[in-house]
Amino acid sequence: ADTLIRDHQPVLLRNSSGYMLRNLLQKDQLDLTRLIAGSEGTLAMVTEATLHTMPLMPNRGALVLMFASMDAAIQAMQQLLVLEPGACDLMDRRLLSLGRDDDPRFRSVVHPEAEAGLFVEFNGHSRAEVEQRIQTAESMMEASSFQYAVTQRALDAEEVDLLWRLPARVVSLLAGLKGNSRPLPFVEDVAVPPESISEFLVLAQRTFQKHEVTATLYAHAASGQLHLRPMLPVPNRSQGPQLEAIARDLYRHVRAMGGAISGEHGDGLSRTAFLRSMYGPLYRTFQQVKQIFDPQYLLNPDKIISNDGQLTQRYLRRISVTQPSTTEDPETLLPILQLSWDEETAMQAAIRCNGCGSCRTQGESGRMCPFFHHEAREENSPRSKASLLRRVLSGEESADVLTSGAAGAVLDSCFNCKQCLLECPSEADIPHMMLEARAQNVALNGLGKTDWLLSKFHTYTRFASRFRRLTNRMLRHGIFRTLLQKTIGIARDRRLPRFQQRPFLHSPRVQSEHNSANVSTSMPTVVYFVDYFANHHDPELAEAFVRILQHNGFRVYIPPQQTVSGMAMVAVGDMQAAREVADANIACLSESARDGYPIICTEPSAALCLRDEYPLLSASEDAAIVSQRTQDAGTFLWQLHAKGSLKTDFEPVEVTAVYHTPCHVKALGPEAGLYRVLELIPGVEVRQIEKGCSGMAGMFGIAAEHFEQSLEIGKDLIQEMATVDVSAGMTDCSTCRMQMEQGASIPTVHPIKILALAYGLMPELRSSLSSKPAGYLMS
Ligand code: SF4
Ligand code: SF4
Repeated sequence: ADTLIRDHQPVLLRNSSGYMLRNLLQKDQLDLTRLIAGSEGTLAMVTEATLHTMPLMPNRGALVLMFASMDAAIQAMQQLLVLEPGACDLMDRRLLSLGRDDDPRFRSVVHPEAEAGLFVEFNGHSRAEVEQRIQTAESMMEASSFQYAVTQRALDAEEVDLLWRLPARVVSLLAGLKGNSRPLPFVEDVAVPPESISEFLVLAQRTFQKHEVTATLYAHAASGQLHLRPMLPVPNRSQGPQLEAIARDLYRHVRAMGGAISGEHGDGLSRTAFLRSMYGPLYRTFQQVKQIFDPQYLLNPDKIISNDGQLTQRYLRRISVTQPSTTEDPETLLPILQLSWDEETAMQAAIRCNGCGSCRTQGESGRMCPFFHHEAREENSPRSKASLLRRVLSGEESADVLTSGAAGAVLDSCFNCKQCLLECPSEADIPHMMLEARAQNVALNGLGKTDWLLSKFHTYTRFASRFRRLTNRMLRHGIFRTLLQKTIGIARDRRLPRFQQRPFLHSPRVQSEHNSANVSTSMPTVVYFVDYFANHHDPELAEAFVRILQHNGFRVYIPPQQTVSGMAMVAVGDMQAAREVADANIACLSESARDGYPIICTEPSAALCLRDEYPLLSASEDAAIVSQRTQDAGTFLWQLHAKGSLKTDFEPVEVTAVYHTPCHVKALGPEAGLYRVLELIPGVEVRQIEKGCSGMAGMFGIAAEHFEQSLEIGKDLIQEMATVDVSAGMTDCSTCRMQMEQGASIPTVHPIKILALAYGLMPELRSSLSSKPAGYLMS
C-alpha cells in the first residue's frame, strides 16, 4: 500500500479529494485525524473534537497589482511565490469589474482597463519585516518587463481586511449575474502544485475553447487552488453530458500536473465519479478503508465511494417548466400560479438560488433569516424555500408536497421580512417564492381559523372603535384576554394598542369636501396612504404627518376610500383577499399616481406592500404605476432635505432615545426610515440599535400560536428595551413598536410625532413621551 500511496496520492498544499492516506501511519500509530478530516462523513460521525490552533503572525501588509494581461499576472504571481506570501490571489477581468462596480471604495484599487489583478498579503513578526517584504516584491516587479501598476499598498490590519473584502465578495456577486449564462461551479475546486499554475491555465484555456465556453478565474495562487467557473446556461439533465465532458477533459490535465480535482471543497456527488481515474489502483484501497469503517455503506452514501456510473448527472436539477398537457394523473400537474407571474419568471427566481448556504449564517454581519437565527435547522433556511418551489414548479414533486408535514415546516418558517432577498448574494427572491408556495397551500387547503380572523382584523375593529371605552377596559382584563385568545387567537399576554374614538379616515379632515383628488392649486400635492394602525390606534400619527407635509408647503390628499394595505393577508397566503384590498386601493390611488403625485406611507409595511406586492397581485398598469409612485415617509422627507426643501425651523425636543430599524424599512432601501431625520432635530439624542428582527412581522407576533416564538426571535430587542437607560424607544413600524413595548416601562414613539413636536405643530404630542406601557396595554 505504501508504494501505491506514494505513486498515486500527490503531495499538494491542498487536497481534499479521496481519503488522505499519506503519512497515516506515524511511528506505528494510525493518525486517524488525517483520515477522518475531509472524509465527508463517509467513515465516521464526529461528536466531539479538540482543535489545536497556531498563532497568526502579528503584522500584516498587502499589495494590489493590476496587469494589462492575464499572462503577465500569472508570470508575476509565479515570481512572487518565492517570497512566500501569506496569500496571493489572482482574479480575472470579469471578477475585478464586479468588485469595482459593487463598492465605490474599490474604484481606485481596480483599474477599469485591467485584464487581471493580484492581491498579495505578506505577514511578519514586525511591521518593519512586512514593509521589507513588500519592498522586495515591488523591486522584483520593477525589474520585470510586465505591464503593471501597484494600485494599493496596505500596512495595517484594517486596511488589509478592507482589501480582502473585494475577493471575498466577487464570488458571491458572480452567482447573482443576470442573463442566460451563469458561472457554473462544477469544476471550481481544482488544485495543482503552485509552480505549475501557469502551465495548467494554458491547458485549461484550451479545454474551454474546445468546448466553446468561457470561464471566470479566481486562484489562491500561493496554495495552487483554482476556482474556474465556465459560463453556461443553467444546466438541466439534457446538458449533463456536456458538463461531464468538460470536467473529464479538465481533470485529465489536473492529473497530468500532479494535482487534485478537489483542493478544499471535497468530492461530493459531482466529483466522486472521477476519483477512479484520478487515483487509479489507489481507489481500491479507498474502497477497503470504507469497508472497514462502514461495512454496510450507511454513512453519506455515494460520496467518495460509489459504483454509480451516472452519478455526475443523476442529481442535476430538472428545471423544465413544461408540464404535460394531458395526463392520467392530475396530481402531477403544475398548479395555477397564485401570484401574477408566469411559470418561467417563477422558475427563474427559484433557480437563482445556487445553494451557496450564505443564508444559513447566524453571524452579526447581517440580519438574514430570523427563523434560522432562532433555530438553525435546514427547513428554516431561505435555501429550503427555494428548493421546495423549484421542485414543485419543475414537476419533480407534485403540488401535493405543499400540504405535506415536511413542507409545512418550511412554509411556517417565513413571515415575509425580506431580509434574505436583501442579503442573498444571488438576489434569489425567496420571499415571493414563499408567498407563492403558501398561497398554493391556502388554495388547496383553505386558511386556518386564526390566520383568517387575524388577517381580516380591520373588518371588525370598527365596532371596537365605536365602543372604545368598553373595549379598552375589557382589553385590560385577564379573563377577557383569555376569551380573546380562545376565540380569535390573539395572544393573551401580548400588549395591545388602545382603540381611539374615531378612525382617522372618518375624521372631518378626511371626510371634508376639500379633501379631493381634483383641486386646482399651484401647491405640490402628495397622497397619504394611512393603513390600519394609524387609522384605528394612532390617528395622532396620521394627523401629525399631514401637518408636517402642510408645514412644508404640500397639499395633502387622503383618499377616503382607501383601506388596509393587505400585507397581513399577503403574509398568510390569502391572495384572493389580498387582491381584493389591493384592487380597492389601486382604484382610489391610480388616478393621483398617473398625475405624478407621490403616494406616501407612514407604515413601512404598507409602503412595501404597495410597492413590491401589488404588482404581483395585479398585472394591471395601474398597479405598476401605484407601485412606482409609492414611498415611505422617511425616504420622502430625507430626499426633500437632500434638495434643501425640508424646513428646519425646529424647536428643541429634549429626549434621549434608541431607534430600531424595522426589517421592512431595510427592505425599502438605504434612504428609508426616519432615523436620519430625527438626527436633524436639536435636543433629540437618539442612538441606533441593531438587535436584529423584532420577531413581530405584523399579525405573526399577535397570534397566540406564534407568541412564544415571536418573543424568542425578538428577545435581544425586548431585553434591550427593558434595560436601556433612555426615556423612549423610536421606530417607524407599528408592530415593532408593540414588541419594543412588550417588556419595557418606557414608551416607543413614531419619529413623525417627534418631528411634529419639533415643528411646534402639535404640542399635545409631548404626552406620548411620558405615557407608559403597562399590564396588557401599550403606551
Ligand atoms: S437563498 Fe441562500 S443558498 Fe440560495 S443563493 Fe441565496 S444565500 Fe445562497
Ligand atoms: S423572508 Fe424573512 S422569514 Fe422569510 S425566508 Fe426570508 S429571511 Fe426568512
